Amino acid sequence: MPLQIVHHPDYDAGFAVNHRFPMSKYPLLMDALRARGLAGPNALNTAEPAPASWLKLAHAADYVDQVLACTVPEKIEREIGFPVGPRVSLRAQLATGGTVLAARLALRHGIACNTAGGSHHARRAQGAGFCTFNDVAVAALMLLAEGTAQKILVVDLDVHQGDGTADILAGDPRAFTFSMHGDRNYPVRKIASDLDIALPDGTGDAAYLERLGGILPELTAKARWDIVFYNAGVDVHAEDRLGRLSLSDDGLRARDEAVIRHFRLLGIPVCGVIGGGYSTDVAALAARHAILFEVASDYA
Ligand SMILES: [Zn+2]
Repeated sequence: MPLQIVHHPDYDAGFAVNHRFPMSKYPLLMDALRARGLAGPNALNTAEPAPASWLKLAHAADYVDQVLACTVPEKIEREIGFPVGPRVSLRAQLATGGTVLAARLALRHGIACNTAGGSHHARRAQGAGFCTFNDVAVAALMLLAEGTAQKILVVDLDVHQGDGTADILAGDPRAFTFSMHGDRNYPVRKIASDLDIALPDGTGDAAYLERLGGILPELTAKARWDIVFYNAGVDVHAEDRLGRLSLSDDGLRARDEAVIRHFRLLGIPVCGVIGGGYSTDVAALAARHAILFEVASDYA
């Protein structure tokens, strides 16, 4: 069985090509996956929009209603970084539904990945930082609600701290949030995860991988995890416009390999989401996001 991949063409909300958020990376990622032979008919699963009842597990009911009705107050839209019109609203519901589907596929097959997701700055009360709904928090709370998982680990290696996920899952003993990120990156005011590691600017491959390799056994020792959500944001890359950690392509691949190998060898299901990536060379960016799928396919 090939790696199960969740996708929807409307993950791309069609922003102008010069928008700060590189929306065209979604179709280009699919091109990259097809070019690598990873997107055959037996591999692809179509995301469906997350209904309000799922979204309200993680988010305030009034905020969910605002997003679905496209009536998000301007002040919150400014914090998100774009207006929430019909395409953005649909995209947020699809990306969230996609992570829920990928999580269910991971429980069934051991590993699955969403070609979107990792919207980790969306807090319970509202979106922020290019994130409308927090797909990983919704999916985690869905699995807990339906009883298909009892202990959930979030491994967030996007260069930005996972403040929204920490906010939503704080105090829930069934979920553990881990974020390793650039200390000087957004958000300025971080919300404490269960475990945070803040790295200095220019950390680079060797120091990064050493730190990661040291922490993975600590995470597995904390509980018998039923599933790991892995945010594989590529904004840790040296050429990223926003990141400051200076990883190379090889470093990214070694990072994904370390995480996925660690949990899969222990038989723990892994649900991968792509997280952030901000480069003006969107084709190179899509190829960086494809690394997650290349590595994951070795463990499918
Ligand atoms: Zn990021």
